[in-house]
Amino acid sequence: MSRILIVEDEAKIARFVELELTHEGNEVVKAGDGRTGLEFALREQFDLILLDVMLPQLNGLEVLRRIRLEKDTPILLLTARDAVMDKVAGLDAGADDYITKPFAIEELLARIRVALKKRQPAATQPAHSALQSGELRMDIDRHEVTVSGEPVELTNREFELLKVLLLNKNIVMDRNRLIEEVCGYDYLGETNVIDVYVRYLRTKIDDRFGIHVISTVRGVGYVIRE
Ligand code: CA
Repeated sequence: MSRILIVEDEAKIARFVELELTHEGNEVVKAGDGRTGLEFALREQFDLILLDVMLPQLNGLEVLRRIRLEKDTPILLLTARDAVMDKVAGLDAGADDYITKPFAIEELLARIRVALKKRQPAATQPAHSALQSGELRMDIDRHEVTVSGEPVELTNREFELLKVLLLNKNIVMDRNRLIEEVCGYDYLGETNVIDVYVRYLRTKIDDRFGIHVISTVRGVGYVIRE
């Protein structure tokens, strides 16, 4: 069970997310404006904070900055679609992740699970540095990828792309997001760069070992399914 703070002024959204999270067995605390949210965040202990950017009294980015001065509680930002500057500023200010509104609740829950998992101390998660999908295994600390024990040589970006997809297993990752994760959010090069890396990965892994690791979701992006 996790303790989650929702800072969101739109009561309907807050209530909806609260219901879903409590249904999954979490304890939820809500704040309807930035100032109250900041007070809760600093005074109490939370496993995760869901923070809207557009908030009355104190905006979400300012709340985020002030929390980060004192605490490293995982923070997931809720941003408006196309608010690129908010995303950039949010990640710079120490947000762990963001999700754009309107969001599918399944995606939000999946991102919350990922954010919670990332922050678990290594002692309670011995396999933390090892990611797996079928016969494919990635050891992040040793920077190694194997299929059925056979080593696979990957470039840094191929490795990063595969890592992001493995960390977000079962979540369809769109190309823009993958570019941000793999190339950095200030990347200004070709937008088909991700397709190129996926092709390299398929040559080195799927073709060589006769397996199917990365699925294409037409018009959206890529996913590694369980
Ligand atoms: Ca709002």
